[in-house]
Amino acid sequence: MGKPKIVLTADRTLMSIYRGISLASFFGCAPAIDPYRHDGFWYWILKNQVTPRVLFDFICNPIEHDHGIARYAPYGLRKIEAGLLRDGFARDEVAVVHPEHIERFIGPETEVVGIYEMDPLGMGPVTMTFTYGRKMISYDEFYSAELHKRIRLAKERTGSKAKVVVGAAGTWQYNYDPAKIEEYDIYAIVEGDFGGTAPELDGTGVTGAFFRALINGEFDVANPFKKSDFKVIIKDFDVDGRKYYGRFIHYNDEPSIDEIPEIVEPSIHGMIEVMRGCGRGCKFCEVTLRPLRYYPPEKVKQEIEVNIKKGGLRNAWIHSDDIFVYGLNPRKNKNMEPNTEALIELFEAVMSTGVVHTNPTHGTLAGAIADERLIPKLSEVIRAGPENHIGIQCGFETGSIRLIEKYADRKLAPFKPSEWHWVVKHAVKVLNEHYWVPAFTLIMGLDNNEQEEDSWETVMLIHELEHEQPESKFTVTPLTFVPIGLLSKSKFYDIGNSMTPAKVAVMYKCWQHNFKYGIMKFMHKVGQNDPIRRYFFTGLARALGGIPLTAMEKYARRKGPEFERAIEKVKAEYW
Ligand code: SF4
Repeated sequence: MGKPKIVLTADRTLMSIYRGISLASFFGCAPAIDPYRHDGFWYWILKNQVTPRVLFDFICNPIEHDHGIARYAPYGLRKIEAGLLRDGFARDEVAVVHPEHIERFIGPETEVVGIYEMDPLGMGPVTMTFTYGRKMISYDEFYSAELHKRIRLAKERTGSKAKVVVGAAGTWQYNYDPAKIEEYDIYAIVEGDFGGTAPELDGTGVTGAFFRALINGEFDVANPFKKSDFKVIIKDFDVDGRKYYGRFIHYNDEPSIDEIPEIVEPSIHGMIEVMRGCGRGCKFCEVTLRPLRYYPPEKVKQEIEVNIKKGGLRNAWIHSDDIFVYGLNPRKNKNMEPNTEALIELFEAVMSTGVVHTNPTHGTLAGAIADERLIPKLSEVIRAGPENHIGIQCGFETGSIRLIEKYADRKLAPFKPSEWHWVVKHAVKVLNEHYWVPAFTLIMGLDNNEQEEDSWETVMLIHELEHEQPESKFTVTPLTFVPIGLLSKSKFYDIGNSMTPAKVAVMYKCWQHNFKYGIMKFMHKVGQNDPIRRYFFTGLARALGGIPLTAMEKYARRKGPEFERAIEKVKAEYW
């Protein structure tokens, strides 16, 4: 049997349902290998492994497949698949495949291998935090490298000349480690207008045109004088006196909602999107640079029905950048007050498909409380309750009023930056009362402009929340600053070399909260419905959850008395 012309795939960390624990999909950011560990107790037990591979592989269970064809795939890959089928490619010419069976699909007939990449080199903010600025190798990087190696070997073995093309939100990382372009034998890196957030290649006719141009060799040379929808830039990089080259392809248009195809095969986690873009304008965010568009409820329903009928899924994970912006026009509505009616209509449509659980991926705290009717009403529609908690990722960003005002003032609209602490506390109260659990992310070293007092304001805000609302349910994950969005000209926050005592205090406080409150107090009450699995994973987290705290204490001892004092201060004043 011949091989498909176009093979689409993603590495193992993106092709797993993580045993049904949606937040565990961050586990790929965990450190896998410490190349600098050569002796000691842990070397004796684990050699260079940091998070034991057997544990990672257990939690990151591979996706189901039919003879190598993935039964579920990342939503973005499903969109490209749908675009190709719409634009004239036959079903047997396009295959979305399981990464561990990629060799079965690569042969002389294969023209393109397209890889969906979110964090290929482990430079995403969560990963940079966990690996101390890439001093260790994360599972994201480890499995991405493994996939590229398998593809290279399969091509060599079969004499395939397939072009390897990478796309999606992590492709910007190749700019910072161009040697990997050569090592992975990447033909092209597809970037969106804004540096890789979303090459929106799924507009009518665009997907087919892009892949046909690839196959016909039209991107082989960069020709600035040729009129084309796709711009090819050959970048050269000088790294330690050695030259590397990369072919970057830009597509500078965004399809309207009508031009975006519906998925035709099931997505991982039952994910579907309801909007693209966000009008809040946070300077550290790529998403805000994209035009804001919303899916009408009917289109949303069609995609959920694909997941139900073809994937047997009973949940819908709603990809949104700020769900509470859905249905509003930020140009006309400067206050960003939510369009409550549009949101209710959207979630009524979602629930009418028969799903038993739904949750939006992201939302702002200000948006959640700007209309006091919103969360109570939405909770009723989606049947939130003690047995059905709704997880939502929210940007806490910083406790510093100074920083939030400078970098994300509209994130707070309709409230003022001076009200930020109140917004955080009140939103946690309202969300928790209606069985929503915010998973906060905050940014360490924001624009390399975070001063000591800013960090301590963050520690203090978390502490106040705990003490004013001792039964509250939320988690906090510190991320290091990555220069994207309007701050793309800034520098990475170098956690490996620029840690300060106050920032160690932020990390320590966050993990102490997650352990003491998240793991010990409420993990067993929320999450999946299967009680056996819930208790199993809570037990596992309780057994391992203290390790990062001990590691940070050890790190502080190594760094010196100032760092130790910062940890002691958290223990004495903010515990
Ligand atoms: S609210 Fe969230 S998605 Fe919107 S611009 Fe700010 S960080 Fe980005």
